[in-house]
Amino acid sequence: MNDAVAAALRQRIDPARVRTGATETRLYRRDASNMTGRAGIVVFAESTADVRAAVSVAGRFGVPFLARGSGTGLAGGAVPPDDAIVISTAKMNRIISVDPENRQAWVEPGVLNLDLSKQIAHLGVHFAPDPSSQQTCSIGGNVANNSGGPHCLADGVTSAHILALEVVLPDGSVVTLGGEDPEPDGLDLRGAFVGSEGMFGVATKVCVRLMQNHPDVATMLMEFDSVGDGAQLVSDIIAAGIVPAAVEMMDQLCLQAVEAWLHAGLPTHAAAALLIECVGPAGQVASEVTRIRELADARGVASVRVAANDAERAELWKARKGAFGAVANIKPNYYLHDTVVPRARLAEVIEKVYEITARYGIDVINVFHAGDGNLHPLLVYDAREDGVVDKVHAAGREIVTFSVEVGGVLSGEHGIGLEKRDLMPLMFSEVDLAAQEALRVAFDPQLIANPDKVLPNPATCGDLHSVPDGAWV
Ligand SMILES: Cc1cc2nc3c(=O)[nH]c(=O)nc-3n(C[C@H](O)[C@H](O)[C@H](O)COP(=O)(O)OP(=O)(O)OC[C@H]3O[C@@H](n4cnc5c(N)ncnc54)[C@H](O)[C@@H]3O)c2cc1C
Repeated sequence: MNDAVAAALRQRIDPARVRTGATETRLYRRDASNMTGRAGIVVFAESTADVRAAVSVAGRFGVPFLARGSGTGLAGGAVPPDDAIVISTAKMNRIISVDPENRQAWVEPGVLNLDLSKQIAHLGVHFAPDPSSQQTCSIGGNVANNSGGPHCLADGVTSAHILALEVVLPDGSVVTLGGEDPEPDGLDLRGAFVGSEGMFGVATKVCVRLMQNHPDVATMLMEFDSVGDGAQLVSDIIAAGIVPAAVEMMDQLCLQAVEAWLHAGLPTHAAAALLIECVGPAGQVASEVTRIRELADARGVASVRVAANDAERAELWKARKGAFGAVANIKPNYYLHDTVVPRARLAEVIEKVYEITARYGIDVINVFHAGDGNLHPLLVYDAREDGVVDKVHAAGREIVTFSVEVGGVLSGEHGIGLEKRDLMPLMFSEVDLAAQEALRVAFDPQLIANPDKVLPNPATCGDLHSVPDGAWV
C-alpha cells in the first residue's frame, strides 16, 4: 500500500521531495510533545499544487494525511497516525506580498513567525502573535493552533490577526476563506479554520493583519515574596482599567533555572517575578507605569526594575522566552498543560499546582501568561526513572481537572491535539462534541485530515461519516 501511494505521489510531485526512508519517517513521527506516531511518507511541499497533489492522493487511497509546520506543537497535533502522509510546509516559506498601507501581508504557511516580523520591521509594522517559540514555529502552525504569546494580552491571539486563508480542503479542492476586506460576506469559515488543528485541510497561503509598531515601550520586572501577591496584582491592574501589552509570571524555580543559564540578573531569591510591558504613546506609557507601581506597592512588591534600554528589555524577554529550554538545567524532560483559569482564581490554582506536584514528588516550574490566566506548569522529570512518566501524567490530569472545576478551559493556546483529546468530555457535553464532529465531517467527510486528534470519539455523528461521491482531483 505504502509503495503504491508513494508511486502515485511521485507521479505528481518531484520524487526527490517524496521520502519514505527511515531517516525522514523517524524524524517526522513526533513533534515537541512527548508523543510518537508513525509517518508512512513525508512530502516536502513547495507549492499549493504540491499540497493539492498530496491531499488528493491521500483521498484516493483513503490514507490519512497531516500538515506539519515546524513541529514545535506541544499537544501532539503533528504526531502522525499510523502510516500517514506528512506534508511538510517548511519549504513554503515565501513572503508573497506586503501592503503596509493597509497593514496586511500574504505569506506562505512555512514562514517562521519571527522571520515575518523581522522582514517587515523596516516598514514600522509587525505580526502581533509572538509565541515563545517564535524563532522556530510557522505561521501555518500558529493558524492551526490559534496560537498566543506574551503580547497577545492586549492584541488578541492569532485568530484576531488572520484576514484570509487559501486552503486545500480534504477533498483536494482549493478555496479562499475570509478576505482582505475586514467584513467579508457570508459565514466566517476563516474563523472556523483558525484553531482547527489541521482537521479541516491545509492552509497554503495566509493573509495576516499587521500591527503598527508602538512609539514607546516600558518593561518592568517586579519581584514578590509570595506567588499569591504577584497573582493578585495581575487582577488589580486589569481591574484598574489598564491592559498592559504583556503580563508574564515566573516562579522561583523558574527564575533560578533561567538565571543559571542566561545570567540576566533575575531575582533568584524571590518567590515569583512579574514581567510587565506597557506600550503606546509616551505619556500613556508613563502614566500606566506610575499607576502599576502604586498598585504593586499596595501588594507589597519587593523590588521594581524598569529596563533602561532596548538591550536590557531584550535580555528580559530572552529570559522569559527561554524558560522552557532552561528546564534542562534541572531535569532532561518536561511535560506541561496550558489550561486557562479565571484571573481572580490564579493564586488559588497555582497553590493547588504546588500541592498536586508535591504529593506526586515532582518538581514544577511555573512560567506563564498571567494576564490571560493561561498557566504553564512545567512538570520536570527524568524519563529514565521508573514509574515517573505515569506519575507526571496523573499529576497533569489532576491539574487540568482542577482548572476546569474552577471555571477554566483545557487549553489556552497549545491546542488539544492527541494529548488532551480524551479530556474533552471534562469540558464539553456529548451534544457539544457531536456538533464539533459535525463541523469536522462537513470539511472532511472521509475523516483523513489529521484524524484521531481533538475529538475523542469520531463515531458520534452516525450517518455523517459516510463518504459522499466525490471526485479526487
Ligand atoms: C519552547 C516552546 C514554547 C512555546 N510557546 C508557545 C507560546 O508562547 N504560545 C503558543 O501558542 N504556543 C507555544 N508553543 C507551542 C507551538 O510552538 C505553537 O503551537 C506553534 O504555533 C506550532 O507551530 P508549528 O509550526 O511548530 O506547528 P506544528 O507543531 O508543525 O503543527 C501544529 C498543528 O498545526 C497543524 N498545521 C501546521 N501547519 C498547518 C497548515 N499549513 N495547515 C493546517 N494545519 C497545519 C498540524 O497538523 C498540527 O496539528 C511553544 C512550543 C515550544 C516548544
